[in-house]
Amino acid sequence: MTASKTYPVPEAIKSSTHLNAATYAEMYTRSIEEPEAFWAQSATMLEWYKQPTKIKNTHFGKNEVSIKWFEDGQLNASYNCIDRHLANNAKKVAFHWEGDSPEDSLDVTYQEVHYEVCKLANALKEMGVAKGDRVAIYMPMVPEAAYAMLACARIGAVHSVIFGGFSPNAIADRINDSKAKVVITADEGRRAGRSIPLKANVDKALANDACPSITHVVVHKLTGGDVDWNEKHDVWWHDAVEDCSGQCEPEVMNAEDPLFILYTSGSTGTPKGVVHTTGGYLLYSAMTFKYAFDYQEDDIYWCTADVGWITGHSYMVYGPMVNAATQVFFEGVPTYPDVKRIAQVVEKYKVNSLYTAPTAIRALMAHGDKPAEGCDLSSLRILGTVGEPINPEAWDWYHRVIGESRCPIIDTWWQTETGGHMILPLPGATSLKPGSATRPFFGIQPALFDADGNELEGEAEGNLVIKDSWPAQARTVYGDHERFINTYFSAYEGVYFTGDGARRDEDDYFWITGRVDDVLNVSGHRLGTAEIESALVAHAKVAEAAVVGFPHDIKGQGIYVYVTPNEGVVADEALTKELKAWVRQELSPIATPDMIQWSDGLPKTRSGKIMRRILRKIAANEHDQLGDTSTLADPSVVDTLIAERLNK
Ligand code: ATP
Ligand code: MG
Repeated sequence: MTASKTYPVPEAIKSSTHLNAATYAEMYTRSIEEPEAFWAQSATMLEWYKQPTKIKNTHFGKNEVSIKWFEDGQLNASYNCIDRHLANNAKKVAFHWEGDSPEDSLDVTYQEVHYEVCKLANALKEMGVAKGDRVAIYMPMVPEAAYAMLACARIGAVHSVIFGGFSPNAIADRINDSKAKVVITADEGRRAGRSIPLKANVDKALANDACPSITHVVVHKLTGGDVDWNEKHDVWWHDAVEDCSGQCEPEVMNAEDPLFILYTSGSTGTPKGVVHTTGGYLLYSAMTFKYAFDYQEDDIYWCTADVGWITGHSYMVYGPMVNAATQVFFEGVPTYPDVKRIAQVVEKYKVNSLYTAPTAIRALMAHGDKPAEGCDLSSLRILGTVGEPINPEAWDWYHRVIGESRCPIIDTWWQTETGGHMILPLPGATSLKPGSATRPFFGIQPALFDADGNELEGEAEGNLVIKDSWPAQARTVYGDHERFINTYFSAYEGVYFTGDGARRDEDDYFWITGRVDDVLNVSGHRLGTAEIESALVAHAKVAEAAVVGFPHDIKGQGIYVYVTPNEGVVADEALTKELKAWVRQELSPIATPDMIQWSDGLPKTRSGKIMRRILRKIAANEHDQLGDTSTLADPSVVDTLIAERLNK
């Protein structure tokens, strides 16, 4: 591979950031050498009822894993996100809510959030929800989704947010796994001008007593659309809170009391109910938010994620709100009503930092420079990305067209299980290389292991592990601690196995190469999916590409590629040849695709990640073994791909 371009910290932001290269290095070293002192001091970022004195008590073993941080500390997450700010920031806007339609918007202050959260918290208590009980939340992207999460946190109930695009089956599975007492939903959601029957989906999930743990269904009236009503358990949100007080004393929680359960995306298998606890998670999400986006008091921050994902938990609710941030809270999608929506919203609210996903960037990039045309993006200072490796091509587009070649791109590698950012550049401290998540956050010790469990030193490529615990680490898989141990701690003794592969370069920068399960072994050479896909996307005629291995008599594994061409491109035999030659030249002859199948769409999770495990089955002609497909955004894509499977 040709050496990639490096982007130094922009002069324009250098003098004003929280950290520079020297302070990052100094703090990082301290976080590793004196973790107890480092985290004890960091913990003062939160307000505690009882300051923790026991900081870290963690053990990773093949048979036993126990993770405790700040274990004698007491606090409340909702208090830290709201009440703390009322003295000085009561009138500060917490959410600039921007509706699916550009006509709809609403500002909500911290004072108003407090009132709404307290009312709902009291209503939940009246329904019999107590500390430790689980509450499912199946909501569209309206402020009530955040109120619901914070109301649970306030009374010590454990929330389990279910993405608003999931089907009745997926809802029922998640409710039953966590035995939730209450589900909070809305009549309907809205997405790109269409309405989503949220209440009807909950009705279907609950039909025939399929979720016996549920005693109440709380329904927020959003669109006023028709809904069926079950007198036994349905209650309108506005009725439930009507007689409730706007004051609700926060429950005193132990740092290790669970805050929420969240199911992973299901890219690699059946989703796991990841459990996060209160103290460590809250501190780490707040701290990473502050440093990743170099948050300053008057910033306007916008994350385009959905609260149904961990990004929506850590970087739309808990992290920003502990910092008393003002955020844009967006109901819609980046391409509706058209591809300029993101730029228009940035202009409207003078957004300073924007955090989105490669899938959204690629969707916009397919339209050239049009997504930014005529919009004033001069307020932007920092851009972020999360969810998948970002192809250098997409990075360049994001940097040039949205960031006007001025804003650093913070490529954040992390997972539902990690609770917060793990490997990322920090705006004032780290030079950037497009496609690299760069360096670890404080307290994080990434390492590369080979298949036999040997640690690899220096420049190397291998399986990415984390050598010691960090405060926001998941504590268990809900109800299945054995699965937790097996998934993350059984591959290698004494370390957390991420399931991702990575390469470390000559500057100790990390490059995520893709899922370990997706790694190809072609004639004895190990190839990550990310690099081949990036090479393909860099071709002018390619919009998106997904690479998987398939059984090959001679090579062991052959390279099977699904390519979505750009609009207007004729996908023919000549283009197949052109793309094969292109990858050969860009990467290496070993990486030359054996087969290229054209596809209008790729199977993706609802959070936009390509599900290569399904593509692998299609390529191998094992259509009857697709595995869990419940988290697919559009299952019909799969049928089309199977029908068009190349039979060469
Ligand atoms: P499951 O664990 O159920 O298979 P999932 O891994 O897709 O689902 P998430 O926790 O939402 O669920 O995704 C985390 C994964 O996303 C990471 O392990 C990594 O593969 C990928 N990822 C996230 N951010 C980045 C990034 N900046 N660069 C590269 N990969 C990323
Ligand atoms: Mg995962």
